Amino acid sequence: MFNVYLSLGTNLGDRQANLQHAVAHIEKEIGRKVCLSAFYETEPWGFTSPNAFLNAAMCVETSLSPSEVLEATQRIEKEIGRAHKSVNGQYADRLIDIDLLLMGEVVMQTERLTLPHPLMHRRLFVMEPMVEIAPTVVHPVLHKTICEIYNTLKQ
Ligand code: ADP
Ligand code: MG
Repeated sequence: MFNVYLSLGTNLGDRQANLQHAVAHIEKEIGRKVCLSAFYETEPWGFTSPNAFLNAAMCVETSLSPSEVLEATQRIEKEIGRAHKSVNGQYADRLIDIDLLLMGEVVMQTERLTLPHPLMHRRLFVMEPMVEIAPTVVHPVLHKTICEIYNTLKQ
Protein backbone atom coordinates (compact mmCIF):
# COMPACT_ATOMS: atom_id res chain seq x y z
CA MET A 1 0.00 0.00 0.00
CA PHE A 2 1.21 3.46 -0.91
CA ASN A 3 0.10 6.93 0.10
CA VAL A 4 0.12 8.78 -3.21
CA TYR A 5 -0.08 12.58 -3.36
CA LEU A 6 -1.80 13.98 -6.43
CA SER A 7 -2.00 17.52 -7.77
CA LEU A 8 -5.26 18.53 -9.48
CA GLY A 9 -5.72 21.60 -11.65
CA THR A 10 -8.35 23.05 -13.98
CA ASN A 11 -8.91 26.39 -15.70
CA LEU A 12 -11.86 25.74 -17.98
CA GLY A 13 -15.61 25.35 -17.59
CA ASP A 14 -17.10 24.73 -14.16
CA ARG A 15 -13.78 24.39 -12.35
CA GLN A 16 -15.32 23.42 -9.00
CA ALA A 17 -17.30 20.63 -10.69
CA ASN A 18 -14.23 19.47 -12.65
CA LEU A 19 -12.25 19.04 -9.42
CA GLN A 20 -15.17 17.31 -7.70
CA HIS A 21 -15.56 14.90 -10.63
CA ALA A 22 -11.82 14.18 -10.59
CA VAL A 23 -11.94 13.45 -6.84
CA ALA A 24 -14.89 11.07 -7.32
CA HIS A 25 -13.10 9.21 -10.16
CA ILE A 26 -9.87 9.01 -8.13
CA GLU A 27 -11.71 7.50 -5.14
CA LYS A 28 -13.37 4.95 -7.43
CA GLU A 29 -10.35 4.02 -9.57
CA ILE A 30 -7.25 4.63 -7.42
CA GLY A 31 -8.09 4.23 -3.75
CA ARG A 32 -9.38 5.59 -0.48
CA LYS A 33 -9.20 9.35 0.04
CA VAL A 34 -6.95 10.11 3.01
CA CYS A 35 -7.22 13.89 2.65
CA LEU A 36 -8.10 16.61 0.22
CA SER A 37 -6.97 20.25 0.39
CA ALA A 38 -9.12 23.30 -0.13
CA PHE A 39 -9.43 24.55 -3.72
CA TYR A 40 -6.97 27.38 -4.46
CA GLU A 41 -7.39 29.98 -7.18
CA THR A 42 -4.04 30.57 -8.94
CA GLU A 43 -2.66 32.36 -12.00
CA PRO A 44 -1.66 30.30 -15.07
CA TRP A 45 2.00 29.16 -14.83
CA GLY A 46 4.21 28.81 -17.90
CA PHE A 47 1.71 30.28 -20.35
CA THR A 48 -0.63 33.23 -20.73
CA SER A 49 -4.36 32.76 -20.38
CA PRO A 50 -7.22 34.86 -19.10
CA ASN A 51 -8.54 31.79 -17.29
CA ALA A 52 -7.28 31.39 -13.72
CA PHE A 53 -6.72 27.89 -12.35
CA LEU A 54 -8.35 26.14 -9.46
CA ASN A 55 -5.81 23.79 -7.84
CA ALA A 56 -5.96 21.17 -5.11
CA ALA A 57 -3.83 18.41 -3.61
CA MET A 58 -5.13 15.02 -2.54
CA CYS A 59 -3.67 12.05 -0.67
CA VAL A 60 -4.96 8.59 -1.60
CA GLU A 61 -4.16 5.18 -0.16
CA THR A 62 -3.67 2.80 -3.07
CA SER A 63 -2.63 -0.76 -3.82
CA LEU A 64 -1.77 0.18 -7.43
CA SER A 65 1.80 0.49 -8.70
CA PRO A 66 3.16 3.92 -9.77
CA SER A 67 2.61 3.18 -13.47
CA GLU A 68 -0.91 1.88 -12.77
CA VAL A 69 -1.70 5.13 -10.93
CA LEU A 70 -0.42 7.12 -13.94
CA GLU A 71 -2.59 5.02 -16.27
CA ALA A 72 -5.59 5.68 -14.02
CA THR A 73 -5.00 9.44 -13.80
CA GLN A 74 -4.59 9.68 -17.58
CA ARG A 75 -7.79 7.69 -18.08
CA ILE A 76 -9.62 10.00 -15.66
CA GLU A 77 -8.27 13.08 -17.49
CA LYS A 78 -9.75 11.66 -20.70
CA GLU A 79 -13.04 10.74 -19.02
CA ILE A 80 -13.42 14.29 -17.76
CA GLY A 81 -12.87 15.40 -21.33
CA ARG A 82 -9.48 16.98 -21.38
CA ALA A 83 -9.27 18.87 -24.66
CA HIS A 84 -5.59 18.57 -25.50
CA LYS A 85 -2.26 17.37 -24.12
CA SER A 86 0.67 19.74 -23.72
CA VAL A 87 3.32 19.06 -26.33
CA ASN A 88 7.02 19.97 -26.06
CA GLY A 89 6.55 21.84 -22.80
CA GLN A 90 3.79 24.01 -24.27
CA TYR A 91 1.12 24.51 -21.66
CA ALA A 92 -2.51 25.06 -22.51
CA ASP A 93 -5.92 25.56 -20.98
CA ARG A 94 -7.31 22.29 -19.68
CA LEU A 95 -10.43 20.86 -18.12
CA ILE A 96 -8.37 18.76 -15.74
CA ASP A 97 -4.71 17.95 -15.16
CA ILE A 98 -3.77 15.31 -12.61
CA ASP A 99 -0.09 14.89 -11.72
CA LEU A 100 1.60 12.39 -9.40
CA LEU A 101 3.67 14.33 -6.86
CA LEU A 102 4.90 11.77 -4.35
CA MET A 103 4.30 8.07 -3.90
CA GLY A 104 5.69 6.92 -0.57
CA GLU A 105 9.48 7.00 -0.81
CA VAL A 106 9.54 6.04 -4.49
CA VAL A 107 12.25 7.69 -6.60
CA MET A 108 12.03 6.75 -10.28
CA GLN A 109 12.57 8.18 -13.73
CA THR A 110 11.19 6.52 -16.84
CA GLU A 111 10.08 7.97 -20.15
CA ARG A 112 6.51 8.15 -18.88
CA LEU A 113 6.83 8.83 -15.18
CA THR A 114 9.17 10.77 -12.90
CA LEU A 115 8.73 10.56 -9.13
CA PRO A 116 8.81 12.77 -7.17
CA HIS A 117 7.30 15.15 -9.74
CA PRO A 118 10.33 17.12 -11.02
CA LEU A 119 8.71 20.57 -10.77
CA MET A 120 6.61 20.22 -7.61
CA HIS A 121 9.09 22.03 -5.34
CA ARG A 122 9.22 25.03 -7.73
CA ARG A 123 5.48 25.57 -8.09
CA LEU A 124 3.58 27.55 -5.49
CA PHE A 125 0.27 26.30 -6.90
CA VAL A 126 1.38 22.75 -6.01
CA MET A 127 3.12 23.50 -2.73
CA GLU A 128 0.38 25.70 -1.25
CA PRO A 129 -2.27 22.94 -1.20
CA MET A 130 0.40 20.39 -0.25
CA VAL A 131 1.53 22.34 2.81
CA GLU A 132 -2.08 22.31 3.98
CA ILE A 133 -2.42 18.49 3.86
CA ALA A 134 1.15 17.19 4.23
CA PRO A 135 3.42 19.73 6.01
CA THR A 136 5.61 17.10 7.70
CA VAL A 137 5.99 14.70 4.76
CA VAL A 138 9.63 14.47 3.64
CA HIS A 139 10.57 14.82 -0.04
CA PRO A 140 12.68 11.69 -0.72
CA VAL A 141 15.17 13.47 -3.01
CA LEU A 142 15.48 16.92 -1.42
CA HIS A 143 15.30 15.45 2.12
CA LYS A 144 13.24 18.42 3.24
CA THR A 145 9.70 18.57 4.57
CA ILE A 146 6.91 20.01 2.43
CA CYS A 147 6.73 22.88 4.94
CA GLU A 148 10.45 23.66 4.54
CA ILE A 149 10.21 23.56 0.73
CA TYR A 150 7.13 25.80 0.82
CA ASN A 151 8.83 28.35 3.06
CA THR A 152 11.88 28.50 0.75
CA LEU A 153 9.61 29.01 -2.27
CA LYS A 154 7.62 31.78 -0.57
CA GLN A 155 10.77 33.84 0.17
P1 ADP B 1 1.78 18.78 -17.67
O1 ADP B 1 1.22 18.04 -16.50
O2 ADP B 1 3.28 18.97 -17.57
O3 ADP B 1 1.08 20.07 -17.93
P2 ADP B 1 0.78 16.56 -19.23
O4 ADP B 1 -0.25 16.36 -18.17
O5 ADP B 1 0.32 16.55 -20.64
O6 ADP B 1 1.55 17.93 -18.98
O7 ADP B 1 1.91 15.46 -18.98
C1 ADP B 1 2.93 15.25 -19.89
C2 ADP B 1 3.58 13.90 -19.60
O8 ADP B 1 4.27 13.91 -18.37
C3 ADP B 1 2.62 12.72 -19.46
O9 ADP B 1 2.43 12.09 -20.70
C4 ADP B 1 3.31 11.78 -18.45
O10 ADP B 1 3.72 10.56 -19.04
C5 ADP B 1 4.54 12.57 -18.01
N1 ADP B 1 4.87 12.49 -16.58
C6 ADP B 1 6.12 12.27 -16.10
N2 ADP B 1 6.14 12.27 -14.76
C7 ADP B 1 4.86 12.52 -14.35
C8 ADP B 1 4.24 12.66 -13.07
N3 ADP B 1 4.93 12.56 -11.92
N4 ADP B 1 2.90 12.91 -13.05
C9 ADP B 1 2.19 13.03 -14.20
N5 ADP B 1 2.71 12.92 -15.44
C10 ADP B 1 4.04 12.66 -15.53
MG1 MG C 1 -0.07 16.42 -16.13
